[in-house]
Amino acid sequence: MLYHSTRGGREKLTAAAAIKTGIAPDGGLFVPEAVPRTDKSFLEDLLPLGYRQRAVSILELFLADYSRDEITACVDAAYGAAKFDHPAVAPVTPLGGGTHMLELWHGPTSAFKDMALQILPQLLVRALAKTGETAEIVILVATSGDTGKAALEGFRDVERTRIVVFFPHEGVSEMQRLQMVTQEGGNVSVVAVRGNFDDTQSGVKRIFGDRSAGEQLAARGFKLSSANSINWGRLLPQIVYYFSAYADLLNAGAIFAGQPVNFVVPTGNFGNILAGYYAKLMGLPVNRLVCAANANNVLTDFLRTGIYDRRRSFHKTISPSMDILISSNLERLLYHVTGGDSAQVAAWMGQLNADGAYRVEGTPLAAIQDTFWSDWAGDRDTTAEIKAVYDRHRYLIDPHTAVASRVLKAYRAATGDEVPAVVVSTASPFKFNDNVLAALAGPDALTGKSTFAAARELSRLTDNPMPASLAGLEHKNVRHTAVCDPGEMKTMVEKALTKK
Ligand SMILES: *Cc1c(COP(=O)(O)O)cnc(C)c1O
Repeated sequence: MLYHSTRGGREKLTAAAAIKTGIAPDGGLFVPEAVPRTDKSFLEDLLPLGYRQRAVSILELFLADYSRDEITACVDAAYGAAKFDHPAVAPVTPLGGGTHMLELWHGPTSAFKDMALQILPQLLVRALAKTGETAEIVILVATSGDTGKAALEGFRDVERTRIVVFFPHEGVSEMQRLQMVTQEGGNVSVVAVRGNFDDTQSGVKRIFGDRSAGEQLAARGFKLSSANSINWGRLLPQIVYYFSAYADLLNAGAIFAGQPVNFVVPTGNFGNILAGYYAKLMGLPVNRLVCAANANNVLTDFLRTGIYDRRRSFHKTISPSMDILISSNLERLLYHVTGGDSAQVAAWMGQLNADGAYRVEGTPLAAIQDTFWSDWAGDRDTTAEIKAVYDRHRYLIDPHTAVASRVLKAYRAATGDEVPAVVVSTASPFKFNDNVLAALAGPDALTGKSTFAAARELSRLTDNPMPASLAGLEHKNVRHTAVCDPGEMKTMVEKALTKK
């Protein structure tokens, strides 16, 4: 199985080379040259297996240049009991009424980014060996909150890698900030940037685009790389939990073999939901993929009209990990629904770059709308949904998951489609404890409380344990105090690479 660019670069790469390279030289994203098809017996074989074995069965379909032993070693390092606090790794909890919650937040940082960022470093280290790479890899990350911490945990003390994470000084939640500035590990650096997320992200992009910086680093034996969700090594592991959830529903007797299900996915960069699309292409009985957005509803508009237009104002919401106006992974969907028309994909992406918008029509749009449906929820509805789900089911959800839960109701009301639905739950409610507590007990419940006091109150009120990794932050030492201006980020990278 080889990989090539969505934009038509002819070169075909092995999986290891695609994972090491991250983004294709022509600016496109790597896609598999053919999506493997699975049949009924493949699914049946998954039923008695645990999450890790299911992962091996799926990953090996795509990682032809990795041995089964190597894949098993990657999977065991990523999803073992030392990392995930639930034996099922990604358990499915029934809520009744044909609704099921797929919990993707049992990993070390309590958000779904762990599902990919725990295994990406494992795949990458082996990719370095396979491709004869001699440089030490430097992962640069700009984060609005969840990715930075998940990448730090994934790469900490991984041989032949360093990681430098930049976050906007006053742009992340207190829990997210503490998660990052207390990070342990000999190869990690964390820097706050005086600016917003855009300034931070632009700064990282500038370093990637700076040829002389790249050459200086190369002379010192370093090579820059990215843990961003455009890397195939981040997308691939996410396919696994769609299959695993389906297998769990079958085992529980909630569905019959072959019965289609809907997945409802809180979406930002279109990575998570795209993995569901790959699962469908592979033959998993998926009926609809429901794309749930927040007030940054560029994807809802696109999926309804075919017009992608990012020329709109940016909203800061209570589901910040979905506050995004350029959903990079959409490019892979466009590639597949055009039957691999890379010239067309390149033209659309060129228009997005130049004008901020493009339009998809005709057969590709029909193919998209055949599978995808979308709506969005604002902060007020999201808050009400957290309370409604808790009051009705005694089940606590975070704001991102609440967006999806709310949109599922809208979907059922609009279509009458009562096919069993899986809501993809992407973060622990304790990671966004302030907003969740306010949703349940009113905003006054926060008055005079530290974020930990609010979390304890949430735990007491709902009789839900706070994840140990978040509770432990209260007494951890701050290890990273660096703050810089956007113009100083390159210097901070040089400094980070000199220490140790
Ligand atoms: C990243 C993230 C999302 C969005 O996922 P995409 O793959 O970017 O669409 C949703 N919820 C949470 C909690 C996240 O961290």
